[in-house]
Amino acid sequence: MPLINCPDCNRQISSDVKACIHCGKPLPQALSNTKVGLPAFFIILGLIIFAIGATGISRDHEGIRFIGGIILAIGIVFLVARLIAAKSAG
Ligand SMILES: [Zn+2]
Repeated sequence: MPLINCPDCNRQISSDVKACIHCGKPLPQALSNTKVGLPAFFIILGLIIFAIGATGISRDHEGIRFIGGIILAIGIVFLVARLIAAKSAG
C-alpha cells in the first residue's frame, strides 16, 4: 500500500483508502477505478464475442461479429464519455 498525498489537506494517506482519513475527502483514484470498470467490462465482452465470431465456431459468425462490434462500440463510447466527464470534473 503506497502512501499518497491527499489533494485537499496534503497529508499522507494510504492509496488503498476510498476517502482521506484526515479530512474525509473522497479520493479521485478510487472514483476513477469504479468509473472505468463498467466500460472496460463492455470492451472485453465485445472483444470476446467478436473473437468468437471471427473464428467461425458458430454458423452465424457474421451476426455474432456484428453483435460483438456493437458491444465493443458501446464500451468505447462509455469509456470516452467517462474520461471526458472525469477530465471536466478536474
Ligand atoms: Zn485530506
